[in-house]
Amino acid sequence: MTTVTPAWRAAASAPIARAITSIAVHCTATREGQPFHVADVRAWHKAQGWSDIGYHFLVALDGKIEIGRPKAQAGAHVAGHNAASVGIVYVGGVAKDGKTPKDTRTPEQKAAMVDLLRVLKAAHPGAIVQGHRDYPKVAKACPSFDAKREYATL
Ligand SMILES: [Zn+2]
Repeated sequence: MTTVTPAWRAAASAPIARAITSIAVHCTATREGQPFHVADVRAWHKAQGWSDIGYHFLVALDGKIEIGRPKAQAGAHVAGHNAASVGIVYVGGVAKDGKTPKDTRTPEQKAAMVDLLRVLKAAHPGAIVQGHRDYPKVAKACPSFDAKREYATL
């Protein structure tokens, strides 16, 4: 039997030239239960004039991990902190009213995020894992849960 390494795992563990000091956790700030994917977010970000999706990895509602911007390239997800970070995003983060921040992660997303973050931490051992809101001077709810605390022991 051949073991096939998932594409995301290879992409997440690949060594890259830029130094990574933090891994930022985001939400798409979309309503609970709406099944968006990398193609959607890429289209939104390109419509804003960006070169590509701003995040490196996306965790879909079903727990599938999708590859966004190549990890070797700086992302566009935390102003002032993109050069030395990797950005991951889960789909959701807002209640059905479309505005109230809410931890909408499915059990599949929670499990996949731990898998993804463990691989990224192994590839970038010095990097801290924190939510978008934990960066200095960020006035956002993103990712709608305490990522710094939840992932402190990864
Ligand atoms: Zn964010």
